[in-house]
Amino acid sequence: MARLPTVVVMEMIRNFVGGAFADRDAAFADIDPATGRTHAMVQVADASLVDQAVAAARASGWDRVPVRERAAVLRRAADGIEARFEEFVAAEVADTGKPVALARELDVARAVHNFRTFADVVSAAGQESFLTDLADGRQALNYAVRKPLGVVAVIVPWNLPLLLLTWKVSAALACGNSVVVKPSELTPATATLLAEVLTDAGLPAGAYNVVHGHGDIGELLVGHPGIDGVTFTGSTATGTRVMRTVAPRVRPVSFELGGKNAAIVFDDVHLDEALTGLGRAIFTNTGQVCLCTERVYVQRTIFADVADGLAERARALRLGDPSDPDTTTGPLISQQHRRKVLDHLALAEEAGAKAITGGGVPEMPAGLRDGSWIEPTLWTGLTNADRVVRDEIFGPVAALIPFDTEDEAIALANDTDYGLAASVWTNDLRRGHRVAQAMDVGMSWVNTWFLRDLRSPFGGMGMSGIGREGGESSLHFYTEPTNVCVQL
Ligand code: NDP
Repeated sequence: MARLPTVVVMEMIRNFVGGAFADRDAAFADIDPATGRTHAMVQVADASLVDQAVAAARASGWDRVPVRERAAVLRRAADGIEARFEEFVAAEVADTGKPVALARELDVARAVHNFRTFADVVSAAGQESFLTDLADGRQALNYAVRKPLGVVAVIVPWNLPLLLLTWKVSAALACGNSVVVKPSELTPATATLLAEVLTDAGLPAGAYNVVHGHGDIGELLVGHPGIDGVTFTGSTATGTRVMRTVAPRVRPVSFELGGKNAAIVFDDVHLDEALTGLGRAIFTNTGQVCLCTERVYVQRTIFADVADGLAERARALRLGDPSDPDTTTGPLISQQHRRKVLDHLALAEEAGAKAITGGGVPEMPAGLRDGSWIEPTLWTGLTNADRVVRDEIFGPVAALIPFDTEDEAIALANDTDYGLAASVWTNDLRRGHRVAQAMDVGMSWVNTWFLRDLRSPFGGMGMSGIGREGGESSLHFYTEPTNVCVQL
């Protein structure tokens, strides 16, 4: 695979409102986290542009477009991303510093898949109906018509910018909503490119709008009186704030928040396969996936083998130039995020942890020294009482903790405020099902991780979120039913 050109991919990233790019004077720098260099400038929206975006969304007329035509637009959008695949890859790599191989295999490929899936899901969807027997022998017919919410605010984070954006936007549009999107200030590029693709696919002006800026623009958007629903993916702290902002107007919210995900490894496991799977679960995207594993509970009899095997896999990761197809691991998203992760490395040390690999900042070659690099790190010697085992760190780090019995493993894994995802590694089929079901999480895997069927429900329990998206769950969130009861 050819290396990406190391040129600036976009000079000025602009807001997109009512079907056209809108210029604003104020702009901030878009930093490439691999090098620390500015690779583009981003124009900042303001209150009047947010007003215009919401008004344009309200007036788009997309809600009146028949389902068949909506699905056709989504399919053309998928084709459009494929046609400009490498442009999306380059934009995502420049914004996030993630390895080009990952951007190709995961982020951009999933964006295409998201649009195709929701075109299919909405095309196949039926309506609920109930035939009701009445006391006098007659019947009544109840049926629910599902209507789009209207204008949906879409707020997404920086870790999988295009993947998470299209996950929400494709479902919202499929249901006939118009959207106003606020990407993370750190990763504005692909949301902006998507505006061009959607326009070329025939989406009417105003159905997709992008406003750029920091959290204050997100707050203006979710609190805007013209917003009919909010779908948010991000940290639990910001999620609670968004909830407070939305509460006075009682609008539906879908929250995909943080996690502190556990893996449970039993001693009957196929060790090599489990180590490969766990290595992915801990280190993919430099640990910056909400589903990543940060707690690994290992049956004591194989603890040393798992610790050695995972440390070996961590050392085999190739940190380096994200445009090199052989690079496996990029930097963290920003210097600010690296400071947070380094604080947790210090906390682990204070708690008496042993870093069996990593534990600091790696020596990088010239050109990458100002990037926000961090060593993949594994700890032993911690317990569930330690803060690093309770806080979501969102980096390439995990604590390995021994257990003796199945009941103990389940209790340890469920001992958290979060409830997003878990994985169970065992060759015992009955145990796999039993333990996976006992996890208090939205998604539980057996002998795999991050294997997704987009028709299945996705979301978390507890502090990890509210509601589910995916397949029919998305149709339910992005629509409101009106039940009609007819006396027959
Ligand atoms: P943040 O919560 O910091 O930000 C998320 C988004 O909210 C960003 O676009 C941010 O903008 C915006 N925002 C910030 N303040 C406000 C506000 N007051 N009102 C409205 N919007 C606001 O999360 P991160 O970007 O740091 O992402 C990492 C987090 O996302 C982790 O906790 C991770 O677990 C979670 N996540 C959860 C997933 C899930 O499906 N459960 C999937 C992926 C990530 P800006 O960046 O410009 O400040």
